[in-house]
Amino acid sequence: MKIKKGDNVLVLTGKDAKKTGEVIEIDRENNRVKVAGVNIQAHHKKPRNKDDKGGILKTEGAISASNVLVVCPACKKATRVAHAVVDGEKTRVCKKCGASLDVKAAKPAKSAKSTKTVAKEEVKEAKAAKTTSKTTKPAAKEVKAATKKTETKTEKTTKTATKSSKKA
Ligand SMILES: [Zn+2]
Repeated sequence: MKIKKGDNVLVLTGKDAKKTGEVIEIDRENNRVKVAGVNIQAHHKKPRNKDDKGGILKTEGAISASNVLVVCPACKKATRVAHAVVDGEKTRVCKKCGASLDVKAAKPAKSAKSTKTVAKEEVKEAKAAKTTSKTTKPAAKEVKAATKKTETKTEKTTKTATKSSKKA
């Protein structure tokens, strides 16, 4: 099995097809996995004692490991898994982008930093947009007024023009 606990996987078949979730349990003997939020089973539980309330318990049911694909943390694509030896250690590798699927700590840390800077840039842009909108609003009014004046002028001139043409 190429899937490990904690992997984010894409479900390919069944009622939860196209869903993604974290692998919460692995059954290597039967080649089955449990994925958070996928294949939810309702268990009707009877109360066994005073403190046990019973009721309907919803838990994940196992699905076949061959029906899920690991989602690469680097390229975010569902991918088949290749194996490579990096620094003398066997590691799982994304077949699509070649990033290691096992050094999750390194890659997302980088992306988290970049997202932070992006967010800051967005805030800066938003602030800039606010200030520009403040400055542009009165300017736009002035422009509108100016265009109105010019329009009335042109109307007058056209009227006079038509009058003069009638006379002639
Ligand atoms: Zn990848």
